[in-house]
Amino acid sequence: MAKQPEVIRDKACMLSWSRSHRWKGKTLALVPTMGFLHQGHLSLIRKAKAHADVVVVSIYVNPGQFAPSEDLATYPSDLHGDLQKLADAEVDAAFCPSNLYDCESDGVPGGAGSGGGNERTVVSCLEAGDGGGGGGHETWIRVERLEKGLCGKRRPVFFRGVATVVAKLFNIVEPDVAVFGKKDYQQWRIICRMVCDLDFGIKVIGSEIVREADGLAMSSRNVHLSPEQREKALSINRSLLQAKYSVQKEKHSCQDLKNLVVQTITKAGGRIDYVEVSWCSSMKEYNSL
Ligand code: AMP
Repeated sequence: MAKQPEVIRDKACMLSWSRSHRWKGKTLALVPTMGFLHQGHLSLIRKAKAHADVVVVSIYVNPGQFAPSEDLATYPSDLHGDLQKLADAEVDAAFCPSNLYDCESDGVPGGAGSGGGNERTVVSCLEAGDGGGGGGHETWIRVERLEKGLCGKRRPVFFRGVATVVAKLFNIVEPDVAVFGKKDYQQWRIICRMVCDLDFGIKVIGSEIVREADGLAMSSRNVHLSPEQREKALSINRSLLQAKYSVQKEKHSCQDLKNLVVQTITKAGGRIDYVEVSWCSSMKEYNSL
């Protein structure tokens, strides 16, 4: 039977676990997740194992990145199933805090956590005074320019919530390497920027998107899609592939490419939030095609 990962809920325990491995000369990789793991997450874990001796996967549904109108309450979770997948993937530790910060002062309830039990080893459940009780959390990390565009336009609190909780995870786990998926491309660029600007001294690795056989990007939230919605969602990848082939074949303006993507998705019954052509690294809008 696969060896179960050490399940750690307390941040002081997490830090001492990490340091005990560092003292033994081991390097550590962190893969931050919100749980309900799928093959996309497992590909990040494989990458982490290739870059470090010891792998920690965090499972934490981060309330700080959800606006009140978003799906915090219905975000899928299956801690028992996740821990089995982590055991099969030979992950060394699962960091499953119940609350990393209390956002109630911001109108967003804290403590969504990744509840549930069934884990084999709980190092400690004591979280006395952890992030709560002191009138709420009020320190945020903002990667000011990068967080404004693209997904940030419609989700104004999302990236500050991500950056802040990832910074906390970096302080608690002290990894040498952290792995993020390029499915959430803007998020990956924001973390790279934060690590560079704040001298975290962590190597941030971006990992390719893992898709279902029909092209749908794997995502924990896909479980909520009806068959009809799933069919519509396929148009996102299809439209991007069409745009890619068109631009490889002949010169097109950015506007032509955006129109092509909008038409393909709306024809399939989808609703567009935004379509933009951007530079990969700066994420600034690219208009010169
Ligand atoms: P999540 O649990 O959705 O917050 O994702 C945790 C990490 O897994 C993030 O770095 C995501 O970008 C990454 N991830 C999620 N889905 C995929 C996927 N289909 N392919 C590659 N990485 C992914």
